[in-house]
Amino acid sequence: MDTPSLPGKPSDGPLQTLHSTSTAMTDAHPGSSDLELSPASVMEGFPPALFQDRRARVLQLLEDDVMVLPAAAPLLRSRDSELPYRPDSELFYLTGFPEPEGVLVLRGFADETRSLLFVRDRDRSAEQWTGPRVGPRGAVNRFGVEESHPISELAQRLPGLLEGARHIHFRLGTHPAVEPLVIQALRQSRIRGARTGTGPRGVVDPGGILDEMRLRKGPEEIQAVRQAVDVTVEGFRAGFRSVAPGRGEWEVQAAVEGAFRAHGAAGPAFATIVGSGANGCVLHYVENRDRIGDRDLVLIDAGAEVRLYAGDLTRTVPASGRFTPEQEAVYEVVEAARAAAVAQVEPGVTLQEVHRAARDVLLEGLRGLGVLSGAVDELLDRKAHRLYFPHRTSHWLGMDTHDPGDYLRGGKERQLEPGMVLTVEPGLYFPAGESDPDPGHPFTGIGIRIEDDVLVTAEGAEVLSAALPTALDDVAASIRG
Ligand code: ZN
Repeated sequence: MDTPSLPGKPSDGPLQTLHSTSTAMTDAHPGSSDLELSPASVMEGFPPALFQDRRARVLQLLEDDVMVLPAAAPLLRSRDSELPYRPDSELFYLTGFPEPEGVLVLRGFADETRSLLFVRDRDRSAEQWTGPRVGPRGAVNRFGVEESHPISELAQRLPGLLEGARHIHFRLGTHPAVEPLVIQALRQSRIRGARTGTGPRGVVDPGGILDEMRLRKGPEEIQAVRQAVDVTVEGFRAGFRSVAPGRGEWEVQAAVEGAFRAHGAAGPAFATIVGSGANGCVLHYVENRDRIGDRDLVLIDAGAEVRLYAGDLTRTVPASGRFTPEQEAVYEVVEAARAAAVAQVEPGVTLQEVHRAARDVLLEGLRGLGVLSGAVDELLDRKAHRLYFPHRTSHWLGMDTHDPGDYLRGGKERQLEPGMVLTVEPGLYFPAGESDPDPGHPFTGIGIRIEDDVLVTAEGAEVLSAALPTALDDVAASIRG
């Protein structure tokens, strides 16, 4: 496979087959006119000033350091077929640049040339295969960096650009094409540094700066998350219409994802889960290959990606439009846990407190169902609920489904702040077969999770997914249509 690698390699081979995604790196035309792409098509509709502001903020936080952010590498699905390209979240966050084979360098320590972007050269024949490229000249115009160079010059230029920095903010173990260049720069600086006293002394993870920034969403990002959640809701509505006994889980998946695309999403933000019956107890069940049984619940966990932001919702619905008494009893506990956890969300509260609210309701519910018995304190002590509720209640949501951001700060739980977006997703699972913790009780085979996406606001919280009902009667009605 001709995976584009760094630096660009020449290849003048035979004609490629039409479905080959490889790129002939021939016929470079650096001088050819730059593309007139509309900013919207390049930056997902975000204003260029937004990226400029973020870079200015990072440059300030870098102080005497430098940040090196490479683009995500294209991933192979099998042999020479590539997965659809998804830009690296961090690089996009700071540039809006969507192409593979780019590297952003931000030099906090420098007086000039503080922002550079290395990009693929314009290449007429490659662009006929894989689409237009911005090119170095276009990169300066479009993305507002001070300088841009062909990615093929990275190896030659990078050591000089890092000289004088105290630390290099670069993610180790993630970018095999760029990492040797960073290590080489460190090595050189160690030799030179002994004489001149300059040069980077270590590599730190860019997440130290970027995770904190990304955790607090600005208005443009909140709008994008809102759009992703709205499209996700449309996907669920379409999915509900296709749920029926005898249908394939895959048909529900197709309906959900079809609606995602129809409403403008790039596609699913993560592998769609459609688990009927006991499949709902498998937390990451993505095979979606069984038929839905008459009395099954169907757990759907899915999210649309819109403008590189993710929605992430879960609903559990009865295939027949009616819950059995056992399903109803469990559902009411999970729904009460969801409501209790959502009610906790406001500035100053910690995710642990949100989690505890859900956990306490679930534990109490499990006692009420007769699944657990004994004193609450004792059950909590031995974490008895974990058999049936083995995951956390929340994660951050944003450009990544599990968005970055430390859950602890200095050993203490982080308090929620306006602009943070989190999921609230309690569940109860009673796996069948060998993983059944308590064979033969009436709930075996029931798996229920309910997940909302919640924005922390100055006043408290806004459930972004409120349009998709969670109350038992509404959920049943959404299947009866
Ligand atoms: Zn989730």
